Amino acid sequence: MANAIVVAGAGVSGLTSALLLSRSKANKVTVVAKHMPGDYDIEYASPWAGANVLPMASEENSRWERRTWPELKRITEEVPEAGIHFQKARVYRRVKDAEAPGYHLSDYLFSTDPWYKSVLPDFRELSQDEVIPGHDSGCEFTSVCINTVVYLSWLVGQCLKNGVVFKRVVLTDIRDAKSLSHTGQPANIIINATALGSLKLGGVEDTTMTPARAQIVLVRNEYHPMIATSGTDDSAMEITYIMQRAAGGGTILGGTYDIGNWESAPDPNIALRIMKRAVEAAPGLTGGKGIEGLSVIRHGVGLRPWRKGGVRIEEEVLDGSTSIVHNYGHAGWGYQGSYGCAERVVELVNEIRKRKGEDLSGEGK
Ligand code: FAD
Repeated sequence: MANAIVVAGAGVSGLTSALLLSRSKANKVTVVAKHMPGDYDIEYASPWAGANVLPMASEENSRWERRTWPELKRITEEVPEAGIHFQKARVYRRVKDAEAPGYHLSDYLFSTDPWYKSVLPDFRELSQDEVIPGHDSGCEFTSVCINTVVYLSWLVGQCLKNGVVFKRVVLTDIRDAKSLSHTGQPANIIINATALGSLKLGGVEDTTMTPARAQIVLVRNEYHPMIATSGTDDSAMEITYIMQRAAGGGTILGGTYDIGNWESAPDPNIALRIMKRAVEAAPGLTGGKGIEGLSVIRHGVGLRPWRKGGVRIEEEVLDGSTSIVHNYGHAGWGYQGSYGCAERVVELVNEIRKRKGEDLSGEGK
């Protein structure tokens, strides 16, 4: 029996969910979204991302990132057209950031004994002479950097190959997705991957969703390794990172992590501070020429879909009959957790199918 599934959202969360679901021939998957790969919009986080793998979760919540790494590694090794390359990452720590009161962007990334040291290859502590000025310690490991434009389009291609159908739709209520399956029959299951859209989307209206604003500068200059620092003296919501995307995607200089800020226009003062901090941390970025040596492609702002209680991946039955599987609220780790989360979506969908009496024993054939 065909299982009509509608995925709402075509960011990395919706596309990865659609891809894994479409590997089962019984699933007939339709993706409906307001924005698709190719668009740049403040309501669409995925194209703006770096995107690399710098683990952010605590050990107990590490499932999503832990399970995503092997697949990103495999794609990087075996599928050059996906637009991902390996890059070394260097993470620099300041003791004063760990001790600062209030919200910390990612204590776990900057831990001196992180859980991910046994997951990401080539982990090692940096010697004191490898630590950049103003920092107390650091570590290095092998990570990846994704060219988001290439990768999102590649995901669409992989979905198309599996028979997924795409439609441009603006939903006012998640229940409206039920009538949008390309099969012509009502969808049995809806996947909600609308990220920040879940704040206002009828039937969801999750008021714990808010943006974590990210301002970045995309430059032509090339630099490796990737860099992330635990804090800056400029402001608690400003951070410093550098990552060179694969396949000529430019180098992202960051940034900010400003929770609750909806401003879509780049702030020129913040942009200046981002560029100054980048060339300070990595003078080689401009061959020692300072910020005048930067060749800017664009200034940008993306809104990370931040959720107060963390990501929401669970089933909800609306109006007693419509099964929704939510997959939203990934904040700053949507790529590095994408396969782990989509895998959970498939598990939840399979539980629903079994409950409805479907025989899944021939799956994958
Ligand atoms: P989105 O990409 O926002 O997609 C939401 C989808 O839902 C869109 O298709 C939208 O059109 C659709 N939608 C919403 N509402 C409706 C509606 N009412 N009707 C129809 N469609 C709707 N992550 C990493 O893992 N590594 C990184 O290095 C990294 N760096 C980042 C750097 C920046 C500058 C930014 C901004 C983010 C970064 N992130 C990174 C975070 C990552 O980008 C997000 O976690 C991820 O893109 C979220 O994907 P998503 O699919 O959930 O949401």
